[in-house]
Amino acid sequence: MMTHLLENQGLFPLMEQRTGNVPARVRNLINREASKQQVLTRILQERYPDRDLGNHTDPLDELIYIMISRRTREGAYQNVFRRLKARFPDWGQLAGAETEVIHAVIGTAGMGSQRAADLKQVMGLIHDQFGLYSLDELHDWTDDRVEAFLTTLPGVGPKTAYCVLMYALGRAAFPVDVHNLRVLARVGVFREAGLDLMRFDHKRGQAVLADLIAPGLRHSLHVSLVLHGREVCQARPRCNGCAVNHLCDFYRTTQLQRSGDSIHPT
Ligand code: SF4
Repeated sequence: MMTHLLENQGLFPLMEQRTGNVPARVRNLINREASKQQVLTRILQERYPDRDLGNHTDPLDELIYIMISRRTREGAYQNVFRRLKARFPDWGQLAGAETEVIHAVIGTAGMGSQRAADLKQVMGLIHDQFGLYSLDELHDWTDDRVEAFLTTLPGVGPKTAYCVLMYALGRAAFPVDVHNLRVLARVGVFREAGLDLMRFDHKRGQAVLADLIAPGLRHSLHVSLVLHGREVCQARPRCNGCAVNHLCDFYRTTQLQRSGDSIHPT
């Protein structure tokens, strides 16, 4: 964790101060944040007992599933994956198919023609690397090696690589999508340490949060945040019914603004 912090000192204003043991002070703040994350994780885990997001334990299935999910509505990409699997029960058949045929199967997925070309190319590159259409060998690789390899594949970014690591390989990775980032930014994790996630897009959020979320909480918190972001903390948040509003900076601020407005009516 500290390596990441020291490499990203600009993220934490306290790190830029010259006096005292600043990294240790930031570490203390981060540790305090860990207890807030624990409470958040516990409450949301109880709030969302049904935690199946349709992910896969086979690493190649999971890679394809997440590739299809990008810029595609939830539900739609689950159907697209089912159609793809029915049409190409062996992924080698997908590698040998014409791009137009793949596109016809995944047509409702976002960026359909580009995605079809990416899928075909990814299959070829996986076969070049492993000699078969499988990512099972990744089970024996380190996290860094898996991430480095997967992110060389077309259409595969860090979030997709982290999903494969977490869902299929059982590693303590923390994929960050728009839901995760929105909820964490509003709740205000790490704000006390000077980190303002509100300014981040999900790519930058992925780079920063990958190391900052406590390893033992990552899987559970990721799933909970996806569910909470979809159901409650949407673009227009439903704060009054939210199970974690007592932990949330955004809620606290808006409540204060409201009470200020009622004391000083215009
Ligand atoms: S209180 Fe509102 S902004 Fe905060 S996490 Fe809940 S829904 Fe999101």
